[in-house]
Amino acid sequence: MLAGRKYRSKLTTEQAAQCEEFGNVCRAVWNTALDQRRQYRTRGAWMNYNEQAGQLADAKTEHEWLKVAPSHILQQTLKDLDRACKDHGTFRVKWRGKSRWNPSFRFPMGKLIEVERLSKRWGRAKLPKLGWVRFRMTRQIGGVVRSATVSHDGRDWFVSFLVDDGEKTPEQHAMPDTGVGVDRGVVAAVATSDGKLIDRGFTSPGEAERYRRLQQELARQKRGSRNRKKTLRAMRGWKRREGDRRADFCSQVAAELTDRNALVALEDLRTRNMTRSASGTSEEPGRSVARKSGLNRAILDKGWHKLELALLNAARHTGSEIVKVPAAYTSQACSVCRNVDPDNRNSQAVFRCTGCGHTAHADVNAAINVLAAGRAVTACGDLGAGRSVKQEPQPALALVGIPRLQPWGGRQATMTL
Ligand SMILES: [Zn+2]
Repeated sequence: MLAGRKYRSKLTTEQAAQCEEFGNVCRAVWNTALDQRRQYRTRGAWMNYNEQAGQLADAKTEHEWLKVAPSHILQQTLKDLDRACKDHGTFRVKWRGKSRWNPSFRFPMGKLIEVERLSKRWGRAKLPKLGWVRFRMTRQIGGVVRSATVSHDGRDWFVSFLVDDGEKTPEQHAMPDTGVGVDRGVVAAVATSDGKLIDRGFTSPGEAERYRRLQQELARQKRGSRNRKKTLRAMRGWKRREGDRRADFCSQVAAELTDRNALVALEDLRTRNMTRSASGTSEEPGRSVARKSGLNRAILDKGWHKLELALLNAARHTGSEIVKVPAAYTSQACSVCRNVDPDNRNSQAVFRCTGCGHTAHADVNAAINVLAAGRAVTACGDLGAGRSVKQEPQPALALVGIPRLQPWGGRQATMTL
């Protein structure tokens, strides 16, 4: 299967200048090609990749500066643009501004890329026009290189490889019949149906304070000044560190959950709707906004979307099935007697059933419900095995809760309580 490997690279001053230049050329090609596409669209015509690639080749004979960058990365830029326009629409694709876009370009010819280890810590890769690029080899490449990408995050340069590691996703999990429900809760980041609460802070109070001071400094500094740039770089550094910790947390949790479970059921929180409706009209605007924004902060703070992606990624190695179930009622239903009542959850942390008196941690109770719903989905899925789920007649979908296939590969279920 394909996997990504990202390493921090140590470019020579010369290479850094070259990469900067490549980035500029890619940016110019992107913007010019996007402009052309937009002009075509306003006239009701289409521009495609092949035509643009042909024009790029012609332009190279006239413009010296285009020859600076390897042809492959420019063609790749046009391909990426083509993909972006097809996916999002020509007028939604963004310009690449000098300050807004972090340079990133891909060398698609994996066969031309040599990678070798130099020492315990260092490795190097030979890239077209750049020559040998050194990087911190923090892990083995472990496969055949398909492509390489060089990118800059505002501070450091990175080289990443798309690698085919030759592994296959197992047909079945090593421990079939195991399953876990995951509630991406508000109290703890992750609550599981076996009663575990997993959480981690991503910034210490001291760090948050230092970041706040940087923000204040930034407000006082003049636009375009050297000090302002310095402050911005420092702020970016903090944000990156936080993001790295979050990514680390997500992949660790995902690895543990998929290792031990053949089925991982997740709440489908649909944060997009939830985050958008906070300012919308409602019966009690003030209260609803306050409550929603608190919830939003918690959800976005915990970065659950990253966890979902990490789970899907980890499941490729273990053969676990990741199922998404709608969040409706999972937090209000009793996991013992199935009584659904908004009063069941009288606080964020405590669940007390108004029917049978069952008391539990609210997020754990929800996680148990999520697992039950997830099991219902896979049971239905097995009944219909061998048939395309999409071809099921509509009423059956609504009645039995047969899953609909989701574009991201997981499964969607109707909650059966
Ligand atoms: Zn109950």
